[in-house]
This record gives sequence, C-alpha cells and structure tokens, in this order.
Amino acid sequence: MPEYKKPLPSLNNPRTKPFWEAAKQHELMFQRCPECGYYRNPPAPRCPECLAVNDDWVQVSGRGKIWSFNVYHHLFSKTFEAEIPYNTALVELEEGPRLITNIVGVRNEDLRVEMPVEVYFDDVTDEVSLVKFKPMTQSA
Ligand code: ZN
Repeated sequence: MPEYKKPLPSLNNPRTKPFWEAAKQHELMFQRCPECGYYRNPPAPRCPECLAVNDDWVQVSGRGKIWSFNVYHHLFSKTFEAEIPYNTALVELEEGPRLITNIVGVRNEDLRVEMPVEVYFDDVTDEVSLVKFKPMTQSA
C-alpha cells in the first residue's frame, strides 16, 4: 500500500473509535440514542434530543443522498495538491444521520443535490478505511 500523506482520523478517541473500527470492517455504524432513537453524529456523551447519557452503536444501510456539496479549486493543504479540484459533500443517510464525506466515482460537474449514493470504504492505510460515497448503482 503506498504511503498515505493526507490527514487521518485519530483512532484513540474513545468517542469515535467505534465508528472507525466499523469502517475498517467495511460497516457503517452510528451512535444512536437507545431512549429516543436519535442518531448522534458526531458522537456525543449526551443525547441532544432527550439528554440520555447511554448510547448504542448500530449499523446503517449505507444508502443515502447528497444533501449538499462543494468543489474546492483552491489549495488549502499541500497534501491535496494532486486532487484539485476535489469535492466534499454532506450526505444524509436513509436512517437520518448526516456526515461530511467525499463523493467518488463521478465527475465533480455531475454532482447533484439529492443524488442517490451508497457508502464506499477507501482503505487508505492498514489501520484506516475512510468513509466515502459513490453514486448508487441500483435502486434499493
Ligand atoms: Zn435521546
């Protein structure tokens, strides 16, 4: 595997560790409140909806749609130089939670709000799989 030089998530944060451990197994999991069912992303010690302090981690479908996106033409970090222009997107999962990600497998000029997407796990190091999305290949 070639050396990956872009920023990586911390795998030592106990609050986000379940998310990254699941991603490494190519499963998309979110923290969910066992009292009211609210998905907490980013993970939080207390439910913002009902203030419960307990939590569950549950696997979601990996299917969703682009809620918003942008395309970066300006270089903010030298490590992204080869990818200019690159996109970032806010994807809303079928189950409700949203996350910031990248959309792969599509030209930036073809990105659209509401585009159906599905999760894609990018194995960037031996320890880290980044959670990205690609256009949905078949309707769910
Ligand atoms: Zn709750």
